[in-house]
Amino acid sequence: MNWISEWALPKIKTLFGAPREVPDNLWDKCPNCEQMIFHRDLERALHVCTHCGHHMRIGARQRLDITLDPGWQRIELPRAPADPLRFRDQRRYADRLKDAQSRSGQEDAVLVAHGAIDGHRAVVAAFEFSFLGGSMGAGVGEALVTAARLSVLQDSPLVVFTASGGARMQEGAVSLMQMPRTVIATRMVKEAGLPLILVLCDPTTGGVTASFAMLGDVQIAEPGALIGFAGARVIEQTVREKLPEGFQRAEYLLEHGILDMVVKRGEMRATLARVIGLLRVPEGAAEAAARQDLEADAAPPPAPALLAPPAAERAAPAG
Ligand SMILES: [Zn+2]
Repeated sequence: MNWISEWALPKIKTLFGAPREVPDNLWDKCPNCEQMIFHRDLERALHVCTHCGHHMRIGARQRLDITLDPGWQRIELPRAPADPLRFRDQRRYADRLKDAQSRSGQEDAVLVAHGAIDGHRAVVAAFEFSFLGGSMGAGVGEALVTAARLSVLQDSPLVVFTASGGARMQEGAVSLMQMPRTVIATRMVKEAGLPLILVLCDPTTGGVTASFAMLGDVQIAEPGALIGFAGARVIEQTVREKLPEGFQRAEYLLEHGILDMVVKRGEMRATLARVIGLLRVPEGAAEAAARQDLEADAAPPPAPALLAPPAAERAAPAG
């Protein structure tokens, strides 16, 4: 043993050797209970705290991954006009947008995909909150209209996971126009007789809450999700009253009839599959029914007695 093997060699190895695989965030801290959780355990628990059950925010891609069966496909979205107002605050909006795009690897704050949820065909749109606060500008409006069109085209239910701070202020009136636009998108789905399922995730606020996000046939939320229009502090200052405990949280809204269900992340997939199964004629059954009708048409007409009950029976008082 000399200084070469003890000191110089390790130095050289660290300088030129292959980088060791040490993830930079081995532990995560729960923002609710402040307990440390091993990163791999947290991933396995779908980013739900293993100590207190707090549902942490997750990205759109992960959302699609844990909702859809393997083999789902992302849809290319039409390009929306970027920075229509040439807006600038401390920075140019065009630069903010470019930053968000390169960080997230997506065009705007919503991803749209089609595939199956536990075997049930579905179109799924998911918001990415880390993309400019999941705010709704022309790009997001375009994504939701595209998702609705696809759902009609494929005769599939539409599931939307929201996570948004509301309208994208940098697009001014253009962003507000996305409110009626997304409402029209929901109408397209409903007019085609297809289920529209909204899953409100933390947080869903502002213009998103005030438009399509409240128009689902079934309204689901994740536990503890903040759902509201204006912030609690603003409301408190306006009405000059102390707001009740848990105000604007999913559980409070469920109690007050705004939501149909609060579903844990780990049970979301199965729940969505069950709801779609209840609302949809099972695939193949519609064709079977049509075939039966055809066969019935081909068969000789039933005797008149079978079509209508005897007159005496019809006249008999009920119950
Ligand atoms: Zn926790």
